[in-house]
Formats: sequence, C-alpha cells, structure tokens
Amino acid sequence: MKTRAAVLHGAHQEWQVTEVELDAPGKGEVLVKTHAAGLCHSDEHLVTGDLGTPAELGGSSLFPVIGGHEGSGVIIEVGEGVTDFEVGDHVAVSFVPACGKCRWCASGQQNLCDLGAGTLGPGMISDGRCGHHGPDGEEINTMAKLGTFAEHMLLSEDSVIKVDKDLPLIPVALVSCGVATGYGSAVNRAEVTAGDTVVVVGCGGIGANALQGAKAAGAKNVVAVDLSEFKREKAAEFGATHTAASMEEAMELVGGLTEGVMADSVIVSAGVVTGDMIAPAQFLTRKGGTIVVTGLAPMMQMDVQLNLFEFAMMNKQLKGTIFGSDSPRRAVPRLLGMYQAGQLKLDELVTETYTLDEINQGYQDMRDNKNIRGVLVFD
Ligand SMILES: [Zn+2]
Ligand SMILES: [Zn+2]
Repeated sequence: MKTRAAVLHGAHQEWQVTEVELDAPGKGEVLVKTHAAGLCHSDEHLVTGDLGTPAELGGSSLFPVIGGHEGSGVIIEVGEGVTDFEVGDHVAVSFVPACGKCRWCASGQQNLCDLGAGTLGPGMISDGRCGHHGPDGEEINTMAKLGTFAEHMLLSEDSVIKVDKDLPLIPVALVSCGVATGYGSAVNRAEVTAGDTVVVVGCGGIGANALQGAKAAGAKNVVAVDLSEFKREKAAEFGATHTAASMEEAMELVGGLTEGVMADSVIVSAGVVTGDMIAPAQFLTRKGGTIVVTGLAPMMQMDVQLNLFEFAMMNKQLKGTIFGSDSPRRAVPRLLGMYQAGQLKLDELVTETYTLDEINQGYQDMRDNKNIRGVLVFD
C-alpha cells in the first residue's frame, strides 16, 4: 500500500515528507495505522550525524530512513502466522524488539533482546527484506525497525505491545520510549528509595519522567538541572523539589540539602550526553552512590572525564541503561496503569502537537527548548 512518511536522506538535512510504498505484511508482521508519534531527541541524532552511521562500524548506512521510534496506533492487517494480535488491536511500538526466546528475554531482560543489535541496521526483522520503497523504487529503511513518522507502519510482531483500548493513544505513544526510559532510570537503574536525594541532569522528554520516577519512589529531594528556564519551571510539575541551571550550581545546592553528603543518585538524561558531563555528575554523587547515564551520546565518542581515584576510593557506581532497564512488555502496560490511576502525568508532557507535514517545525521547537515533548498526531 501507499502511505506518507517523513524521510531523512542524510545527516544535516531536513525531514522530507514523501510517498512510500509498503509491502503487505509477511509472516510474523503487522500493518499499523499510526495515531501518534513522539518527537524524541534520539531521531535528532540522525540529523546531527551522531547516530545512524553504522557504515563507520562496518555496517550499511541507514539512509534514506523513515524516522521515529516512539509511537502508537491500531492494527489494520496481520500477516501469516500472527496469533497474538488481530485487526483492531491498539498497540504501542517498542524500539527494542522482544523475541521472547533469546537468553536476555528468557531472563526477564527484554530491553537487551538480541534482536536489538540490528535495530539501527536495514531490513525487516522477519526476513531481512526492505519492505519499504520510495517513489522511484529505492529502498528505504526505518528507525529502530519502526519508522513512526509515517501514516502507516509495517512492523514485526516482536516490535508491538498490545494496550487497553480505553487508553488515549497519545499517552500510549509517549510511554513507548521517553516515559519508560526516564521513569525506569530512576526506579529500576538508580534504585531510588524513600528519603533519597536525586539529581536529574537534563529535563526534557526523558528527564521529566526521571523526575516522576524519583518522586514515585519517595525521594526527599529531587533536584532538576537544566539550562532552560522553561524546563526548570515545568520540572516542578513532574516532581522536582529544587532546580539549578547547571551541575556547578547544583553542587552548592545539593551540598546544602544533604549537609555535604551529596546525592544518592545522579541521572544524566541530557539530549546529547558528552564525556565531560560525567566528572561533575560524579562529584554530585555521595560515597557509594550511583550515576546513571540515560541519554544518547554521539556514537563514535570515546573520551570520558572520570576521576578514577575518587571513583574507586568512594566506592561509586556508573551505570548505563536502555529502556529504563525494564522489559517493554512489562513496563508499558504497568506505566499506563499508573496513568489510569492518576499516579503518572502523561498528558502534561505534551507541549505541542504537529501534523506530519509540520515535522521540521516540531524539531526546530525542540532545538529552541520550547517543548518537553512535541507529538505528531495523525488523522
Ligand atoms: Zn526515544
Ligand atoms: Zn529476545
């Protein structure tokens, strides 16, 4: 079938909305009519060239690529052998597919599923064919095997999660990346407990949810660090008790709040994480405390500032996380249940909605720090 999608032809270009031909769903695949797609910072990394260059690592280029890895929609067709989904099911997508059979899935770590290794390469999960073609027949890839910036999505059944039909589909889309990642960074990875002091560095779509996670876990002090005054103001809505414009400014604040002990955990969720952010995060963290790196760093970056003497002698931990260190099929329904119970703010995360044709404006607003989350909404 023909659909319309925002395609990126190379780094440092604008998104182009063009017609794309999708294959009919093959074995183990579903066709989804997209309802909403979050404008996550990770797709911006394709534009800046920080991501999607597996050619440098010996792989194939992802360009041209349909962007988007946060989304929701309704299944309109199922391929051969699909038994867990039927036409009419409401779904969240998952940028980490879950096969359910590999060592990681079998041990409750779907976020590390072996299928995730191919998520930034070309080809459908099912049989490796492209499945998406441009107006001249050229092959087009999809971000994270999804491509949510399109009116329809051809997906593997491993990349979708069924959700309650009563749920509005915009919050469902947000939970599929930013919410699960941020919330889990605090609750699962930093293991925040009641009475903790937590610092969240970068308070956009991921950080706002790390604040919500820290609050839900009972943290006493939740310190939001962001250069943007708008994001610092919004941070209070999501659970921040204090704010600072920089980690340097936070140092004195956290020292005062903890009588010099410093933070139990620091979550680094900036839009672009760079190696020079780790040492200041380290010094904001108490003895035996935890630093969690959540945001995406430029893919080829190797240099990190870390005081190894202090790191070892103060018994600190530095942890990475993907999908909030939770299994997508567990996290997504659980977080949506908290939303239904009024325990998680999802509607409040949406600053602005856009049509597919307004995608470049949406990303410009993100760059200008105007949005906690911009969302593409389809008819
Ligand atoms: Zn994302
Ligand atoms: Zn797996």
